[in-house]
Parts: sequence; structure tokens; C-alpha cells
Amino acid sequence: MSVLHENGQSVNGFRSNGATAGMVDGFGRRIEYLRISVTDKCNLRCVYCMPEEGMPWLRRDEILTYEEIAEVVRVMAGMGLRRVRLTGGEPLVRKDIPRLVAMLAAVPGIGDIALSTNAVLLAQMADSLRDAGVSRVNISLDSLRPERADAIARRPGTLAKVLRGLDAAERVGFEPIKINVVLMRGENDDEVADFAALSRHRPLHVRFIEVMPTESNLELSASNFLSCDEALAAVAEVDALEPVAGPPGNGPATYFSFPGALGTIGVITPMSHNFCSRCNRMRLTADGQLRPCLFGTIQTPLRGALRRGEDLRPLVRETLRIKPEKHLLVQGSSEGSGGLIALSQTGG
Ligand code: SAM
Ligand code: SF4
Repeated sequence: MSVLHENGQSVNGFRSNGATAGMVDGFGRRIEYLRISVTDKCNLRCVYCMPEEGMPWLRRDEILTYEEIAEVVRVMAGMGLRRVRLTGGEPLVRKDIPRLVAMLAAVPGIGDIALSTNAVLLAQMADSLRDAGVSRVNISLDSLRPERADAIARRPGTLAKVLRGLDAAERVGFEPIKINVVLMRGENDDEVADFAALSRHRPLHVRFIEVMPTESNLELSASNFLSCDEALAAVAEVDALEPVAGPPGNGPATYFSFPGALGTIGVITPMSHNFCSRCNRMRLTADGQLRPCLFGTIQTPLRGALRRGEDLRPLVRETLRIKPEKHLLVQGSSEGSGGLIALSQTGG
């Protein structure tokens, strides 16, 4: 049954007269944004994200082809989708990713293609990604000290490669460039001021993220937890911070800046300040599950229907209908994560 909101839109995303109203979920949130995990594989093993060994990798035939991903985006664009982000695992380890970018850029209605990457391979791919249609990038970097960055990523030489990727991102004109820093007490809490300083003279948007619990990081996410409030307090000791609108992107971050700075400082607070009421997104996993929330067990398999050539719209509408009001993460427990081993499985 379709329940009508005051504005005449139904919760399953269609007006009572049958005209497309965009995708609106059962709590009135408009969903225009899809995060697409193109692979569960990664060339790093960040301590908060993945176990060093033992990940249950997807088989090749389980992973959606580029044509299948583009078909999902075409269908959803017809229902109101406007923006996509490629993520993973590490999206740049999947072969010929600029080909997928170009396919998505050609979908009518899609006005913005973004990329979340660890940037290890970005220096050599930035030009082709920009030419194919990527406009903005988020780069993960958790320490500015070489040995630490390598230890957190569990791979040698990480920092140097990421910094080359960051330079390339600026050179080819990705805008905005956001740097994602996962906060970990005892690991990088003494670097928040150094990270914040990156936003002064370069148009970089540094975002501190509270670590979220999964099956593989329970101890770290509990005992090394650092709230964004604490990080901001440390930054505010260096210089005055004023609230600002932040770069375009409509994500969950709240932004501040130093006086006269070219960039901003953002905080993403899934644990300390829930922001689910502003959620504007769904997720597509590498094996074709449409997920209304990063966490939890709710998902709709699209792959079978895709491969049988069936209409995907009823499945998308149903996923929208069952989108939960908020995540149920609890520190020190993997329950709310719905049994996720790593965020790389759903794209973060
Ligand atoms: N490999 C790419 C990267 O690292 O940017 C894209 C995938 S990664 C899963 C997406 C984002 O999720 C990154 O910014 C990463 O730092 C973040 N992330 C991963 N596990 C996390 C966790 N347990 N808590 C908070 N953020 C996490
Ligand atoms: Fe790989 Fe990104 Fe997870 Fe790090 S955070 S292990 S780079 S998917």
C-alpha cells in the first residue's frame, strides 16, 4: 500500500497520479545519490577497515559487469537518481575503471560522478579518470607520517604514493578534493592539527571520521575510539574555527574553517551525533545488492533480475520502502553492523 505524504508524494517514490516524483523513502528523505562499490578487493589493508588476511572475496562471476552497473544506474536515473560515487574496496584496482566512468557519464540525468579512493594508483590514472567524467574525489589518508601511514595501511610506501595521487588530483582539477581521516586514539590523534593545517593554503577539505564497528575491528573501534568533538577541540586550540557551508556534495559532514583558509575542516559523526535524518543515498554492492543503509542486514539482490532481463524498478521501490530510519550501531558490538566483516564489503 502506498502512503501519501503531505506534499502529495507517496513513500514508494511515485505521485498518486503516477508521475515520477523522484525517490522518496518512508521517512520523507529524497534519495538522489548512489554509492557504487565496483570491487571488494583492495591494495591496502587499513587496520580499521579490513583484516590482514581471511577476507571472503567475491568470485568474478558474482561481481556485476560494467554493463550491469550502468543498467542499474540507467533505471535509477529514470526514477530520480542524479549523482553517483564509485567506491569499493579500492575502485582503482578494478581493470579499466575509466570505461565504467564514461558509461555512467553518458546516462541521461546523471550530473555528477565522484570517486572515493586510497589514491595509491591515482597519480597514473587521474587524467583518464577526469577525461572520462570524474569531477570530484575523496582521498583516504590517516597519517602524514610515513611509517605510521604504512602501518595503518599495512603496506609499505603508502604515504608517498598517496601524496603523489593527491598532487595529481589537484593538477587535473578535481573539485572539490576531500581528504578522509579516520580518527584513532593512540594512532593519529596527535595529528589532527597537522591535518587541519592542510586546509589553510590549499583548497583541500579535510574530514575527520569517527571509526565505526565491524566484525573485524571490534577492539580498535572501542578502545581507540576518538570523537570528532575531541578532534575539533584540539584543532580549535590552534586557531579560531568558524562554521561554514562546506564544499558541494550533500554528505553527512558538518564543516568549519580557519579564518581566510582556502579549504575546510569537516567532521563525520556516525557514533556521537547521528545524522541519518539527512540521509540521501543508497548503495550498490559489487555483487549487486541494493542496500538502503551502510549497516544492517536489509538489502535487495538485483543481480538475478538484471541477468534475467527483468524490470528492476519494483525492486528499487521496495528497497526504498524498507530503508531504515537510522543505523543501529553500538560501540563494542558488531550487532548493528549486520555481520559486516569490513566496510569494504558495502563501499563505506
Ligand atoms: N578504498 C577507498 C578508500 O579507502 O577511500 C574506498 C572504500 S573505503 C571502505 C571508503 C571510506 O570508508 C574511507 O574513507 C575509509 O577511511 C572509510 N572507512 C572504512 N572502514 C571504516 C570504519 N570502520 N569506520 C569509519 N570509516 C571507515
Ligand atoms: Fe582499502 Fe579503503 Fe578499506 Fe583502506 S579503507 S582497506 S583503502 S577499502
